[in-house]
Amino acid sequence: MRRIATALWIPAVLLAGAPRSAMAQAADAPAAFRAAVAAGTRTDTGVPGPGYWQNGADYVIEATLDPRDGRVTGRETITYHNRSPDALDRLILHLDQNVFAPGARRNRRAPITGGMYVESVSVDGVPAESRHPGGGYQEALTLLEVRPASPVAPGSSVTVEVSWSFTVPPAPTFRNGNLDGRVFAVAQWYPRMAVYDDVYGWDTTPYLGDGEFYLEYGDFDVSLTVPSGWLIGATGTLANAEDVLTDAVVARLAEARSRPGETVRIVAPDDRGAGRSTRGASGSSVTWRFEADDVRDFAFSTSNEYVWDLHRTAGGVDAQAFYRPELGAWEEAARYAAFTIETLSDWIRPYPWPQVSITEGPVGGMEYPMLVFNPGTDNPRGLAGVTIHETAHQWFPMTVGSMEAKHAFMDEGFVSYFDEEAAAVLWGEEPPRWGENRGYLRVAGTEEEVPILRHTDLVSPYGARGLAAYTKPAVMLGALREIVGADTFREAFRDYAETWAFKHPQPWDFFHLVERHAGRDLDWFWSPAFAATATLDAGIEWVEAGADSTAVGLVREGALVVPLTVRFTDARGGVTDRVVEVEAWTGTSQVRLTVPGRAVRIEIDPQGAFPDIDRSDNVWSGG
Ligand SMILES: [Zn+2]
Repeated sequence: MRRIATALWIPAVLLAGAPRSAMAQAADAPAAFRAAVAAGTRTDTGVPGPGYWQNGADYVIEATLDPRDGRVTGRETITYHNRSPDALDRLILHLDQNVFAPGARRNRRAPITGGMYVESVSVDGVPAESRHPGGGYQEALTLLEVRPASPVAPGSSVTVEVSWSFTVPPAPTFRNGNLDGRVFAVAQWYPRMAVYDDVYGWDTTPYLGDGEFYLEYGDFDVSLTVPSGWLIGATGTLANAEDVLTDAVVARLAEARSRPGETVRIVAPDDRGAGRSTRGASGSSVTWRFEADDVRDFAFSTSNEYVWDLHRTAGGVDAQAFYRPELGAWEEAARYAAFTIETLSDWIRPYPWPQVSITEGPVGGMEYPMLVFNPGTDNPRGLAGVTIHETAHQWFPMTVGSMEAKHAFMDEGFVSYFDEEAAAVLWGEEPPRWGENRGYLRVAGTEEEVPILRHTDLVSPYGARGLAAYTKPAVMLGALREIVGADTFREAFRDYAETWAFKHPQPWDFFHLVERHAGRDLDWFWSPAFAATATLDAGIEWVEAGADSTAVGLVREGALVVPLTVRFTDARGGVTDRVVEVEAWTGTSQVRLTVPGRAVRIEIDPQGAFPDIDRSDNVWSGG
């Protein structure tokens, strides 16, 4: 019997779903998460449930980039594994390049390329009809729905074959770009399987620009054809170096790998060009074949102007840099990447892949598995900062595969915390005082602030997204570290990364896991800090400094309450610390403390650990 498969574009009305209720003012898990706990795929202790499952997608891709017109032409075979208990009567794919189609809905300015042309789609060898909606449903352009002839049964796999082409958008734009035909950053570029998970089923979030991506893990075998003389930095390891690179370059790779801890030049400025760096005469093409296991995406950068450095870490990871040599600061890029790999492997979890490539080009900082796009900055601090940030994304969300658009804080926020902590180590500086972060304090409590737990595409203007996704969660992680203690904080993060590596955690998995490590409920913190926009504002209202004792009246405004250290200093410099626990504020906004001796100075939160929005009343000096 011949099976018929169809493909169609998802109408907007299906995407919109039920109207969103007002943001809950508590970090209570939503109904979908609670249902997953009841079904046994999640738990309320931060570990996957006994019934946890996750689908997978393996890709074999062959693609050609023609730098003259910036056109990418490709075909792929996706092997999709349905490990869910559900028979799937439809498959959802992301066509992110359609955010550059005329009239596409998006939340960023974009050049118009025409988007992605899908030439053919087939399921298990049966051609599927691909229909354009023709007027309307524009926000759905980045999603393709394919209906297999019969549902994909639980425990079975299905093969999806797609042929497509698109024009890399001219720089500057977001996430990818063609820089004057000289450097190409190519990402979100092939039809990718959407996630079908145990909490929400199919993730039908359209790609609008701000949100990034949420994808299944799988193994990739990608063959990229470019002109001879063009170097490629990509997700994965080069599987056919002898076919692609000249003997001299292959020899330098081997040498670099034998000298961990040093940055070794693989391709110098004079080595560039057809027949020098790569095999093949000028005008011929070369096919680079990359293999990557357990990754959720694949991207690449290519240029015929790149030089290539390699710095092997002590742990045997190849940190590589591809850049145009006019940018002198980039000679340190591979070392910055190696530093990040070593530091975060120690702090969080060992880096799980053989290499990371830092590539220079038109995108102002973006992460893909084993690959970083960096802007062409020549400023060492700026270059180190963005390299550390994007390399830290290899942990969140490349290893720990959260839903980026819906829960941006679980990648951007976590990474913003770790990148500043790591940068301080790199430069030999004091660690950040998170409670004094001006980026957060400037906006905290104003109408420009939105809750951290909000879908990134629903946050506007963009500045509010930057705060909710990046700065504020980092500040709140600094506060959390103070609340649970640095050792517990580190152990919890290690356990979180290990437990959820190559899985799909939700915020409530993280919250529950931290609570288990802390040995107590922390909803009094998650709710105001993550689900709402409550602020912390404690102050000294009055002081009675007598000869034998000192009493102080503390007052708080704002719904965020944390355990605050109050430091009393006497005339000889002697210090007494008292901690006002959260419970002390139950049912009151005023707390009285008394210490022996006459204090001449009193300060709330002397470590600057907590983001008090008005520090002017945090210090008293007199006597
Ligand atoms: Zn980031």
